Amino acid sequence: MTTAYPRLLAPLDLGFTTLPNRVLMGSMHTGLEDKARHFPRLAAYFAERARGGVGLIVTGGFAPNIEGWLSPFGSTLASSSAARAHRPVTQAVHAEGGKIALQILHAGRYGYSPLCVAPSRVKSPISRFTPRELSDAGIQRQIRAFVRCAALARDAGYDGVEVMGSEGYFINQFLAAQANRRTDAWGGDYANRMRLPVEIVSRIREKVGRDFIVIYRLSMLDLVPGGSTWDEVVTLAKAIERAGATIINTGIGWHEARVPTIATSVPRAAFAWVTRKLKGEVSIPLCTTNRINDPAVAERVLAEGAADMVSMARPLLADPEFVRKAAAGRADEINTCIACNQACLDHVFSGRTSSCLVNPRACHETELVIRPAPARKRVAVVGAGPAGLACATTLAERGHEVDLFDGAGEVGGQFNMARRIPGKEEFHETIRYFRRRLETTGVRVHLSRRVAAADLAGYDEVVLATGVTPRDPRIPGQDDPRVLSYVDVLRDGKAVGPRVAVVGAGGIGFDVAEFLVDDGHSPSLDVEAWRREWGVGDPADARGGVAGVKPQPAPPARQVFLLQRKKSKPGAGLGKTTGWIHRAALKMKRVEMLSGLNYEGVVERGLAVSFGEAREKAAVLEVDTIVLCAGQESLRELEAPLRAAGASVHLIGGASLAGELDAKRAIDEGTRLGAAL
Ligand code: FAD
Ligand code: NAP
Ligand code: SF4
Repeated sequence: MTTAYPRLLAPLDLGFTTLPNRVLMGSMHTGLEDKARHFPRLAAYFAERARGGVGLIVTGGFAPNIEGWLSPFGSTLASSSAARAHRPVTQAVHAEGGKIALQILHAGRYGYSPLCVAPSRVKSPISRFTPRELSDAGIQRQIRAFVRCAALARDAGYDGVEVMGSEGYFINQFLAAQANRRTDAWGGDYANRMRLPVEIVSRIREKVGRDFIVIYRLSMLDLVPGGSTWDEVVTLAKAIERAGATIINTGIGWHEARVPTIATSVPRAAFAWVTRKLKGEVSIPLCTTNRINDPAVAERVLAEGAADMVSMARPLLADPEFVRKAAAGRADEINTCIACNQACLDHVFSGRTSSCLVNPRACHETELVIRPAPARKRVAVVGAGPAGLACATTLAERGHEVDLFDGAGEVGGQFNMARRIPGKEEFHETIRYFRRRLETTGVRVHLSRRVAAADLAGYDEVVLATGVTPRDPRIPGQDDPRVLSYVDVLRDGKAVGPRVAVVGAGGIGFDVAEFLVDDGHSPSLDVEAWRREWGVGDPADARGGVAGVKPQPAPPARQVFLLQRKKSKPGAGLGKTTGWIHRAALKMKRVEMLSGLNYEGVVERGLAVSFGEAREKAAVLEVDTIVLCAGQESLRELEAPLRAAGASVHLIGGASLAGELDAKRAIDEGTRLGAAL
């Protein structure tokens, strides 16, 4: 069969073993690694990805010893008994015909632990603990721990290991002079600073033999001022090849970098150019990474000669069958990762098990099981937003007869507004996925059909996924034509003047502000414009890609004031790993954020406000337009009449609860109800 992805699906001969294709499932901490009792879940999670055809899986990071802990008692592989506990994981992957490597991750000074160690006693800007400086013997002990961990991984049945040498962790800390102030054989000039990774890789190779995959994740673009130059990157890559690595994987950005590297506003394949620079310098396969979430993009990257393999991590959370669907010519059925971080990274960074906003089964494979329905029922689902789409398709997949109604002319609900925000173009993919899934599961879709309770007689079950309606903030004078809601602006395209007040600084207020300052030009669709915006240079010219490079954001299309009544920092409730990006992006566009406001009323010159409980410092914000983004309330007017008529009614998503609503909850509730009815 001919394929649209010949390079992506081509086998990769590593000499002693052959990978079936060029897809590497990149390392992701899911939280299931931390306790051996969760390993059966980890095994089911990886087995599903192996069954889906991924070429090589890399686990989340495991510390080689206590000093390398990411967090106290977190994932560690340092003993034979610990290695035995991994066997079900490797066996499950092998039973599906897959291959799996264990990532060895020493956190160094990034460890959230008082036991953390580093080349020098220099605390990182994002760490709580100051690391202990290692002695020479201490460094030798860490190297031995890496080697032991690799040998234990081999005993546990892994096909290889990945040595984590990027993202600002232990090994990176030796490479960068800003974190390595040593004057002995492990510090000073670059030859000394790179001694540690070279030693680790060569001693691992010596221990594990020739027929074991050793991937080295090399930080090619540190995005911190004291990071590596390009010469240093090339020198290290050559030394790592000589030391016996099988594959070099790409690392982009330290955790403390102030440039987004994987968020949804980062353009697709935005960093493939970095790996490409290294092509030709070494002869072992190179793997590129970051924001590659689609087989066509992966194919293009390989066709352009940027790399020999493509690492995708979150896209495999979103769809375990990514590779199999691409290979079968069913790429339009792929559930695309929208890079929101909401259920993966945000969970891990707040101590919760990962999942995926668009695929709530991720990391919950053993618990959220979609089984054929014992009896076929007639089900009406009202509302084709994320909640209704997830529910209707899950119900139909199980064999129920499903009618899906929406008053709008298109499916997607509020995602049709979200996808218009510059930097949120990916949200379109979720709508595309569900549109196709409605077809493949056979849901009957009725668009432009705003239904009333009387239309829903005769169904066995009725699911209300009718979402929300904007909250009315009752500001005096708000019936003025200069006052619009976010729906007027985002859905109906109503005109907005050059000076704007946005009332409400929640997720939607921030998004509307970004929409208004960018005015239709999205740097997320243009890698070069995006690099200028964030100040990402070439490491051949600028150390770490950022030293001396000034961000050059395009001037804002409008003057925007983003307002809230609370006294807290605007945007404090945004995503844990992405909130800073939204705040920084708006700051670059000179958006004025004001907290602790009272809205006194809409007046001739604009919006009258005062501050604090005493209503002090009364002022008028001179604006042409006021956009209301004051939160939302549930829309469930159908519930009471349906219940009165004796219908079996279920509420999901915004219709169930508007507070703290997001698409993650909407899709999760829709899927779970769909699996249960
Ligand atoms: P909705 O998406 O509101 O869908 C409800 C549907 O029901 C609508 O299509 C409506 O037409 C239909 N309907 C209502 N009544 C009837 C009726 N009587 N008959 C027929 N049809 C009816 N969430 C995130 O998680 N991350 C984000 O980054 C994010 N960004 C956003 C950005 C913007 C600009 C907006 C507006 C929202 C964003 N959201 C985001 C929120 C997310 O879109 C919502 O949480 C989600 O859409 C709620 O899903 P739902 O299915 O419950 O409701
Ligand atoms: P929200 O996050 O609850 O924010 C509502 C804003 O309106 C707050 O700033 C609130 O601040 C203000 N407000 C509330 N009542 C008000 C009133 N009576 N008068 C004036 N202001 C009032 O809701 P949202 O922005 O509408 O977003 C809806 C949901 O979509 C959110 O829950 C969010 O999770 C999701 N979303 C997520 C993202 C994301 O990036 N993850 C993006 C967009 C949307 P004060 O009360 O302090 O004024
Ligand atoms: Fe991708 Fe969002 Fe799912 Fe994470 S939660 S895998 S970023 S879609």
